[in-house]
Amino acid sequence: MKQVAIVGCGIVGATIAYELSRISGLQVMVFDVQPPAQAATGAALGVLMGIISHKTKGRAWAMRQISIRRYATLIPELEAATGCTIPYNSYGILKLCFVDDDLASWERLITLRQQQEWQLQLWQRDQLRAICPQVQHPEVIAAVYSPQDGQVDPTALTLALVQAAKQNGVYFRFNVQVQGWQSCSNGLQLHTSEGDWTADWVVIAAGLGSMSLSQGSLPPTAHALKMQPVLGQAMRLRLDQPLGNPAFQPVITGQDIHIVPLQNQNNEYWIGATVEFPTADLTASPIAAPHRLEAVWQGARALCPALGEATILHRWSGLRPRPVERAAPIVEPVAGDSRVLLATGHYRNGVLLAPATAQWVCEWIQQSL
Ligand SMILES: Cc1cc2nc3c(=O)[nH]c(=O)nc-3n(C[C@H](O)[C@H](O)[C@H](O)COP(=O)(O)OP(=O)(O)OC[C@H]3O[C@@H](n4cnc5c(N)ncnc54)[C@H](O)[C@@H]3O)c2cc1C
Repeated sequence: MKQVAIVGCGIVGATIAYELSRISGLQVMVFDVQPPAQAATGAALGVLMGIISHKTKGRAWAMRQISIRRYATLIPELEAATGCTIPYNSYGILKLCFVDDDLASWERLITLRQQQEWQLQLWQRDQLRAICPQVQHPEVIAAVYSPQDGQVDPTALTLALVQAAKQNGVYFRFNVQVQGWQSCSNGLQLHTSEGDWTADWVVIAAGLGSMSLSQGSLPPTAHALKMQPVLGQAMRLRLDQPLGNPAFQPVITGQDIHIVPLQNQNNEYWIGATVEFPTADLTASPIAAPHRLEAVWQGARALCPALGEATILHRWSGLRPRPVERAAPIVEPVAGDSRVLLATGHYRNGVLLAPATAQWVCEWIQQSL
């Protein structure tokens, strides 16, 4: 058996562990300094903006297509394997368009998506009002509806992935910190707070924690992995009745604000998220600024005034791992050792892109099996 060690059990590490567990001839071990689904994953809203994104070619678009396709099979597969329910919103995503938006560019995207065999629809204001009367913003002139995108509860999904991977023979070591790695005569040696482990491949899926692990014992290079924490705040709230039509509850997104109906919950919604960059020191974690979340909350109520009746249940924040001076995500072998794979830096789209990242890792490892 070949050994794969994965560092990190957020959505990315857990998806990789599950997908690797379906390949024969591999023994997979996952380490996390915390329990599963903490860090960025524990804060995420799980909105899967794949088809509705403006990415149209190259790796960015390929990863979105792969992920949206895989989600359609992954969720039922995991529910069947584990007996867990994974809250998944299959009503799609509705992106609001405002007076200043370039509707012609949306029309071009819709045509392109049709050629790529995906669906997007442009709804004019009257159609939007009829289908989603909760949207009342005076400057909303139209909306783009994406029925094949969706939203998933990132924590429930990560826990189901862990359970399914365990059932397939993956070992998990939680509350164990990985301190580094080095090349040794029989493979790679992983140094952890519980001693050393030997592996044939190491996958670094440790979010912001990946930075200190990326070089291992390799000599420092100018290309060392650099990421910055970008803070996001969000909130959960409850209404007495659902927004709009109870039988059609898509994620509504506009002006970078998501209104996310929670599946099988009593008229509860997530609202978010702020995007707060570090100020002076690029790598220092920003402190959550209450006025930034208040601005998102005000913006959400401007989009859907009925939210004004809501009771706020909970507020939280998390740090997104954003690569510095390069595009997200970072999915590649480390420079200098092709047995150590980086699967990190997913910034605002880690839930969306986890299946595509896992597919790349599986293909890389399978090539050399
Ligand atoms: C408020 C908010 C909203 C978001 N909304 C969305 C959304 O709607 N859709 C979307 O796709 N994405 C969203 N994101 C982004 C998404 O959360 C991240 O891209 C994603 O969670 C990254 O997953 P990850 O597994 O790479 O990292 P993480 O979830 O950060 O997990 C990394 C894990 O590695 C572990 N670790 C770190 N260092 C070590 C070490 N040395 N040893 C052992 N373990 C270690 C940590 O404990 C952690 O569990 C959102 C993020 C935030 C903050």
